[in-house]
Amino acid sequence: MWKQDWDEDDGEPPPGGSRAWERALREVRAVYRQADAAYAPFSCPASGECCQLSRTQRQPWLWAPEWKLLTTGRELPPPRADGGCPFLDAAGLRCTVYADRPFGCRTFFCERIRGPARQPAEAVAAMLERLERVSRRMEPTLTGPRPILEWYSRTQTQAP
Ligand code: SF4
Repeated sequence: MWKQDWDEDDGEPPPGGSRAWERALREVRAVYRQADAAYAPFSCPASGECCQLSRTQRQPWLWAPEWKLLTTGRELPPPRADGGCPFLDAAGLRCTVYADRPFGCRTFFCERIRGPARQPAEAVAAMLERLERVSRRMEPTLTGPRPILEWYSRTQTQAP
């Protein structure tokens, strides 16, 4: 059983308020720590290939609090001409938001992952459920997670 940083018996701050968001982001970080622990026995070649989103035609899907965590206190980077994730560094090799990278980026949406034969599917499912619970608490009308580039273009459109 995972240690939970968030005690749901704590009582809820008003939805949508800054304290509620602080707690939501804390819980997202806790889920990320769980993901990192679950994937500690695995490794990847760190080539940055999976971040070339146009080329792979695959994207991490983020719940709203994940996008909030990724963008809070950061300027949105410009889009990349090569269709890679905008959060890649200039060389297109390294993630510039590594500590806050989304759940999907931690659980290796890539077949080049190396490690034990079987990935921790049940643990991942439980973590995703937890992310969904946090997200629905914050944005009850949200229908589901969204691809990272969709979040990106929505936020870009809203920027002053
Ligand atoms: S957030 Fe980071 S790890 Fe995830 S796709 Fe973008 S550059 Fe890659």
